Amino acid sequence: MGAKRRRMVAGNWKMNPTLGRGLALAREVVERTRDVADRVDVVICPPAPFLAPIAGVIGGTHVALGAQNVHPDKHGAYTGEVAAMMLGEVGVRYVLCGHSERRQLFGESPEFVGAKVQAAHRDGIIPILCVGETLEEREAGTTEAVVLWQLEAGLAGLHHAQVAAMVLAYEPVWAIGTGRNATPEQAQAVHARIRQWLGGQVGAELAEEVRILYGGSIKASNAVALFAGPDIDGGLVGGASLEADGFAAIVRA
Ligand code: PEP
Repeated sequence: MGAKRRRMVAGNWKMNPTLGRGLALAREVVERTRDVADRVDVVICPPAPFLAPIAGVIGGTHVALGAQNVHPDKHGAYTGEVAAMMLGEVGVRYVLCGHSERRQLFGESPEFVGAKVQAAHRDGIIPILCVGETLEEREAGTTEAVVLWQLEAGLAGLHHAQVAAMVLAYEPVWAIGTGRNATPEQAQAVHARIRQWLGGQVGAELAEEVRILYGGSIKASNAVALFAGPDIDGGLVGGASLEADGFAAIVRA
């Protein structure tokens, strides 16, 4: 990993758990990761209705609040949606954009994801842009083309400094929630290609500043190996972020 980049581990709780358990989990994450707070940015992304109460628990600690979704527009007739400014008002610092579940289950296009990224920047939230190929795409040899296409749309229209300030997450779709992680070599190869591509977009120096997380069935048992790649700056963790000890072990890795 480049000397300039600070490591990050973000937990995506998805549509879990209850409010009571979420508050307890947030407290446990604060306690169990405190000893590495000087070395790792720790982020938790609870469901939207829990953001404000959990902000009350982690406010003033080293654990930052992330949202799982955002709408591109500032306000309006979008029933069920949440604007970036609203997230900021309850203490959200990061937001996931283009998670594969949003792309696949809710039909989000690469361009719509790009609009979310722009909205987050507009209102002072750091986007975590997720990209990744399906199993069919990997088997067809199109991993690189798919990932770069998603990046191109996701980063369209941004200033170089905005790209440098954001976080990317490479999450092969076939590894999310399946228990089947990419090998450290597979992950590093895609991360290196992403950084090389970024260099062509914003210059090698700024590309070195961008944190690229790996996501897909990270567990305490595989985290050390996965995080060893020089272009892998941490992880986006789904299932294993719902249990504080396991999540803390991944943060420590
Ligand atoms: C995710 O939801 O971003 C994810 C990586 O999930 P899991 O860790 O469960 O594969």
